Amino acid sequence: MSDLVRRAEAFARDRHAGQLRKGVTAEPYAVHLEEVAAMVAAYGADETVVAAAWLHDVVEDCPSTSHEEVAAEFGADVAGLVREVTDDKALPKAERKRLQIVNAARKSPGAALIKLADKTSNLRALAVSPPPDWDFERRMGYLAWASEVVAALPSRPEIPLRAFLEAREAAAAKTRAAFGRPGRSSDAADPEVRLRSFDPD
Ligand code: ZN
Repeated sequence: MSDLVRRAEAFARDRHAGQLRKGVTAEPYAVHLEEVAAMVAAYGADETVVAAAWLHDVVEDCPSTSHEEVAAEFGADVAGLVREVTDDKALPKAERKRLQIVNAARKSPGAALIKLADKTSNLRALAVSPPPDWDFERRMGYLAWASEVVAALPSRPEIPLRAFLEAREAAAAKTRAAFGRPGRSSDAADPEVRLRSFDPD
């Protein structure tokens, strides 16, 4: 592991310390960061992208951290990638969700890979540790929204895309089983499900 990646990991672990994922098992948030960084590294991304994967939620979720600080610590390339995958929290939730789809089309290859790994990690979590207060519609709505973001990315390398699709199938199957609703696995394309509102993750 390069020094840049090691420093990004330590920085992210420090800033996200104490944060938990939304799912029933309430894992430390760093588990998600580690999963995204590991996926990106496994696909052969360079150290700039792997470092940005560790840092991809740090500005959005850690109010004490700014893009300027990330740039000062890790350089303009890493900070640029983090900025590409950071939502503007000043906007209403529904608008942020809409913009993720609209803005996905403009992502650089590195940012697109981080997005793809991020959504894959979140769908894996939805399958094994869903937020306890999310009902069937909300879970399937999240799945449909994540699919729309990924579908809008300009570059989707085959191996990570396959991992995303597998995670999506597993999340759909687990959700259907949890609510006793056997049926098609293609609900991600169901227009009724697509139009519902959902939370960011
Ligand atoms: Zn994330």
